[in-house]
Amino acid sequence: MQGVLWHDCLVCGDTISNHICYRCMQDEVENWLGNRNPLYISSVRRAGEFFTSYYREGAYCVMCGEDLNVCGKCYCFAVHKSIRKNRILASEFLDFAASKGFMLSPIKGVLNLQG
Ligand SMILES: [Zn+2]
Ligand SMILES: [Zn+2]
Repeated sequence: MQGVLWHDCLVCGDTISNHICYRCMQDEVENWLGNRNPLYISSVRRAGEFFTSYYREGAYCVMCGEDLNVCGKCYCFAVHKSIRKNRILASEFLDFAASKGFMLSPIKGVLNLQG
């Protein structure tokens, strides 16, 4: 079969729409945190390690070409969880992630409600 293949996220089962792997998202998040609050970089890395256990072949990241296994939404959930002790930072992260297209903005509302 030719053409664009849509793959499901191994964590939540939703279609991965952004085709960017969590490692590339993590690079962006680390850059962003480096300017914002470098203390949280290690927490975010630990959140990313959770995803290394998910592996699949056949779906590739548009940025680095590595395999794609989880969607931006699941990755952003994990990052948000790891930094949410800092409410301001967590809220800024959601704006950052939405601006980068890692997740859709309706999710931002859901996470804000969870506090
Ligand atoms: Zn997912
Ligand atoms: Zn990538």
